Amino acid sequence: DLCIQRARQTKELNAFINITDEEAENHAIESEKRVYVEKKSKPLDGITIAIKDNFCTKNIHTTCASNMLKNFVPTYDATVYSRLIGSGACLVGKSNLDEFAMGSGTVDSIFGPTRNPWCYSEDWRISGGSSGGSAVAVATGSCVAGIGSDTGGSTRNPAALCGVVGLKPTYGLVSRYGLIPLVNSMDVPGILTRNIDDLIVILNCVAGPDILDSTTIKKDFKPIKIIDDIDMSKIKIGIPSEYYCEGMSEDVLDVWRSVADLLENEKCQVCTVSLPHTSVSIAVYSILNQCEVASNMARYDGLEYGLRASEDYSTEELYASTRSEGFNNVVRSRIFAGNYFLLSRNYDKYFLKALKLRRLIADDFNKVFHGENSVDLLLTPTTLSEAPLYKDFTSKHNRDQCAFQDYCTQPANMAGIPAISVPIRLSKNNLPLSIQLMGPTLSEELMLNVAKKIE
Ligand code: GLN
Repeated sequence: DLCIQRARQTKELNAFINITDEEAENHAIESEKRVYVEKKSKPLDGITIAIKDNFCTKNIHTTCASNMLKNFVPTYDATVYSRLIGSGACLVGKSNLDEFAMGSGTVDSIFGPTRNPWCYSEDWRISGGSSGGSAVAVATGSCVAGIGSDTGGSTRNPAALCGVVGLKPTYGLVSRYGLIPLVNSMDVPGILTRNIDDLIVILNCVAGPDILDSTTIKKDFKPIKIIDDIDMSKIKIGIPSEYYCEGMSEDVLDVWRSVADLLENEKCQVCTVSLPHTSVSIAVYSILNQCEVASNMARYDGLEYGLRASEDYSTEELYASTRSEGFNNVVRSRIFAGNYFLLSRNYDKYFLKALKLRRLIADDFNKVFHGENSVDLLLTPTTLSEAPLYKDFTSKHNRDQCAFQDYCTQPANMAGIPAISVPIRLSKNNLPLSIQLMGPTLSEELMLNVAKKIE
């Protein structure tokens, strides 16, 4: 009840697309009955959650913040959602996002932008994105945990800008079944909470193989634990020099340095490492992203799913008018660009080349984690700055630079490795500043234990 009250009180931040008041209340009553009357409990009884509106929820609208799916009501649940609900959690609401999760600000939603709760003034700041709704819901206490998705940073970026913890798990550790795809080879469900302990509880409920998603890792998932007497002197932390880039604010650099010092004081070995292909990463990410988007969005043809435009003179005209009414400029331009890269005359030059470079980016990580003088984890910033003002973020110049927002986050998606954003302290403007840890495939336990030391 308190969470729903908070969600209502903070309505002007626009974190939720829809609040499931009645359903959540019934759920709460049900779990109370189970605990007190039947004396049986489930691990998430009474735990409130917000789910990004690109996860299918049976009989509850799932819009992707797009005109295309404005009236879409799925007939099935995403695995992440069914596992959480099956463990006793109750849904406070579906949270806001950039249309089809394309963006880093939660500014491009048909329901309007989501505001950052750390700044209530008229000159307001963005929440980050594209899982900004879930991040704000957690930051304002409207729920205990938020579920986001992370293709290039969409869970870690808003977590960093809103001062909460945001995990992008290893690709395949958490099922994508029912997550409306953006880039199938990079998408993962993400988790946002206020602290590491909460995050572990949620991850332990949602992780593990799923017969409905053939890309999940088949190995049984061993629940993650906090190791109280962890020997920090055995842990090697790498600082990749290429992550220092133009446009990174002094505040962010300061936090990066101070967390490296903190880990050194905790007796970790901290050293500089190199990930030489980082500089091409943004371009490679953009090409691969747009190619997969072009292929994924082909399903929205006005016939099978979602919107159907009225002027259906011919099939081609129906496709065209449906997509121009249904999608915003960002989605449409990615479809165009992706189809261009995939034309047979461009395929080798762009798509194939990007795939090869993606392999080199992943190899860079393999070398630092498994090669000579290997390290256990990498420490980098999550974002280049504190939360930008909405008016600056949406200016023409920044729109052109948009892909750069993901500079520190998207390489982990291309390599499929886990990464977490941890809030550290406030900037001079009283806005959250965070750092990111990355680790080799399935290193979540170590990563979360080290994250706990610095949170
Ligand atoms: N900003 C990136 C993009 O627009 C990341 C999106 C995401 O992780 N869903 O593609």
